[in-house]
Amino acid sequence: MKKVLVLEDETSIRSFVVINLKRAGYEVIEAGTGAEAFEQLKAHPDTRVAILDIMLPDMDGFEVCRRIRASDPNIGIIILSARTQEMDKVTGLMTGADDYVTKPFSPAELTARVDALYRRTGGGDQQDTGEIVQGPFRLNTRNRTLEKNGQRIKLTQVEYNIMKMFMENPGKALSREDILNTVWGRDYFGELKIADVNIRRLRLKIEDDPQNPIYITTVWGYGYKWGL
Ligand code: CA
Repeated sequence: MKKVLVLEDETSIRSFVVINLKRAGYEVIEAGTGAEAFEQLKAHPDTRVAILDIMLPDMDGFEVCRRIRASDPNIGIIILSARTQEMDKVTGLMTGADDYVTKPFSPAELTARVDALYRRTGGGDQQDTGEIVQGPFRLNTRNRTLEKNGQRIKLTQVEYNIMKMFMENPGKALSREDILNTVWGRDYFGELKIADVNIRRLRLKIEDDPQNPIYITTVWGYGYKWGL
């Protein structure tokens, strides 16, 4: 059963979200506080996607996100935000979220985002068995892990998928649209900026000097290029 956590303290919004996800075939576990969310995830370690509200009674959703991400690099995280300021979106992504949905949202939109995230967090159709080794990097496509100079680099599933796309296309300029279509899926209807935010975070993890990236270079006005 496809399991999703919904963390939202407002019961009317939560039940609306839960009903729609159940209709879409998900098993939904619920929490009204950050503490409850951690307990629920402990009790349901097979949860693959978490939807997190920001304004909560005990802590904010970004903190919940940060802690979930610290203990589970694989889970997909969607921030549910009533705030529309760009900074909040960026903050959410920098704390390890994969996507965000701004309130008010339609149930169809949220379900589409969960479906897309569920698929790209390893929805069961991965048949890769090998390794891609380039320079100091070793990408294991079976375990979905990355090493640099033999040291494991912890990646989110989205970051992993971006790395895989780069390493499969060395020296090729990839447009942000290409990256979104491959990593987020063609049904993603968010903003191009989400690619930039994830790549900025990826650079922090893999570059020797993230301010002067040499592996992931910017192709101005277009996108990014992977090279060694
Ligand atoms: Ca709330």
